Amino acid sequence: MITAKARAVDGPDKTFRAAEIKRRDLDSHDVLIEIKYAGICHSDIHTAHGEWGPVHYPLVPGHEIAGIVTSVGPEVTKFKIGDRAGVGCMVDSCGECQNCRNGEEQYCLKGKVDTYASVDKYGEPTQGGYSTHIVVPEDFVLKIPDNIELDVAAPLLCAGITTYSPLNHWGAGPGKKVAVVGMGGLGHMAVQIAHAMGAEVTVLSQTLNKKQDGLQLGASHYYATSDPETFEKLTESFDLIINTVSAKINMDAYLELLTLDGTLVNVGAPAEPLSLSAMNLIGHRRSFAGSMIGGIRETQEMLDFCAKHNITPRIEVISADQIDEAYQRVLASDVKYRFVIDISTM
Ligand code: NAP
Ligand code: ZN
Repeated sequence: MITAKARAVDGPDKTFRAAEIKRRDLDSHDVLIEIKYAGICHSDIHTAHGEWGPVHYPLVPGHEIAGIVTSVGPEVTKFKIGDRAGVGCMVDSCGECQNCRNGEEQYCLKGKVDTYASVDKYGEPTQGGYSTHIVVPEDFVLKIPDNIELDVAAPLLCAGITTYSPLNHWGAGPGKKVAVVGMGGLGHMAVQIAHAMGAEVTVLSQTLNKKQDGLQLGASHYYATSDPETFEKLTESFDLIINTVSAKINMDAYLELLTLDGTLVNVGAPAEPLSLSAMNLIGHRRSFAGSMIGGIRETQEMLDFCAKHNITPRIEVISADQIDEAYQRVLASDVKYRFVIDISTM
C-alpha cells in the first residue's frame, strides 16, 4: 500500500481537512503518478455537496490531474518512470462492451469507474486528485504533450475534453455559428477550441464583465443574457449551442436561438431537472442533446489539438488550504477561469 496525503471532505456541509489515503500496490498494468496539479471542476462541488445523490464520505475529489510517473507495473508498455501524465474523470471501464471497444469508455455499458466517488474493481471507493499520488491502469492515463505545462494541462483533462468532444461530434468548424453559454471553466475552453476548429464563436454570459477575455480567447461576439434584447437579437442564429451552465436556466429562451436543424448540447449538469417546450424543437427540427466528457482516445486527440493550437486554460493556482475559498468563488461565478491546486502545498 502507498500512503498519499490528501484533502478530504466529510459531508455535504463540511469544509476540507488534511487526510491520508491508501493507494493500492501496483497491479501489472498500473501506473503510479506523483500528482503535481489538480484542477477544481464544478462537478467536484456538485459531488462534494451531495447534490447528485448520496456520496461515500470522506471524499477526495479531483479529476483534472497532471503529474509525473514514478513507478510502473511489470506489464506496462505505454509509460515509463519520468513521463508526464494526466488522468481525467475515469480510471477504468469494462473494456469489452460495444462502447468501450469503440473508444467511448465514458459510456461503458457496465458503468465506467469514476476517478472519485465510485467503486473500483477491487471493491474499494475511488479517491481523486486532491492528493499527492494516484494509481491508475495505463489505459486510462494520458500523455501530456511537451509544450503544455503541467499546471495548465490539468484542466484539459475534464474541462478540455468535455467541450472538445461535443464540438467535434456536432461538427463545429468553418461556416458554423457556435454559441457558448457560461464562461467559466468549461466555457472558456469551449470558446478557444471552437475558435481553433474554425467556427464563429459567440459567448452568452450573465454579464459583460468578462467580454475582453472572451474576445481575446477567440469569440467574435459577446452578449449579456441579463439583457432581454440579447434573446430578441439572436433569434435563430446558431447552428450549435454548448450550454456549460451549472445551474438550471430557461432552456426555451436558448432553444429559440437555434437555426433550422440546430442543436443545443447540454454539458452543464445542474441537480434540478431542466424543462423545455416540445414546440421549440418541433418548429425548427431542433435537437436538444447531452454529452459526457469524452473517450480516452479522443482525450489524447484533444491534448494534441490543444498543443498544436497553443490552447491552454487560464488558471489561478491555489494552495491546498484555499480549496474551500475556491469553491465559494466558483459558486459565485468568480473564477478566471479555473482554480488549480498546487499539490506541493499538501
Ligand atoms: P463553472 O466554472 O462554475 O462555470 C459555469 C458558468 O456558468 C459560470 O462561470 C457562469 O458563467 C455560468 N453560471 C453559473 N451560474 C449561473 C446561473 N445561475 N445562471 C446563468 N449562468 C450561470 O463550472 P464548470 O466547471 O465549467 O462546470 C459547468 C457545469 O458542467 C457543471 O454543472 C459541471 O458539473 C458540468 N460538467 C459536466 C461535464 C460533462 O461531462 N457533461 C463535465 C464537467 C463538468 P458566466 O459568469 O459567464 O455567466
Ligand atoms: Zn469535471
